[in-house]
Amino acid sequence: MQVKHILQSKSVKGILTIKPGATISDAAEILSEKRIGALIVSQNGKSVDGILSERDIVREIGKNGVGCMSDCVSELMTKTVVACGPNDKVLLLMSKMSEGRFRHMPVVEDGELIGVVSIGDVVKARIESIEQENAALTDMIHGNV
Ligand code: AMP
Repeated sequence: MQVKHILQSKSVKGILTIKPGATISDAAEILSEKRIGALIVSQNGKSVDGILSERDIVREIGKNGVGCMSDCVSELMTKTVVACGPNDKVLLLMSKMSEGRFRHMPVVEDGELIGVVSIGDVVKARIESIEQENAALTDMIHGNV
């Protein structure tokens, strides 16, 4: 299974981005309203300038208090982003996420952002694929193929 198969099966198709100059308060509002865990930071909606996760906000509040809510997203975001391509294998994605200890990955094609995959999307896709394999094996065992 490839990353593009996950993108095709996602119910929410749009990509939520935020500009580097927006505030942490703006970001928290979107994360809460849209019930997501991270936003891709992009000046033009196509480039990946950074990623801001709920963890970045919680970590900063835990260290320095709520004063960060008026800071710019660019101050808290992770600037070195690990991305994947639509033709990458989902197993590769899983190993990159587990090595990097993060749960979100932008999907980039020809230098442009085309989607975002979360660990939840990956787990859902793996469960579906295992269920399909099980059904095919059961059919084979019972001579239904
Ligand atoms: P997450 O587990 O995705 O909520 O993020 C945990 C930490 O990793 C946060 O500091 C994020 O900014 C960072 N992060 C999330 N996704 C990525 C990614 N694809 N590449 C690099 N850093 C990331």
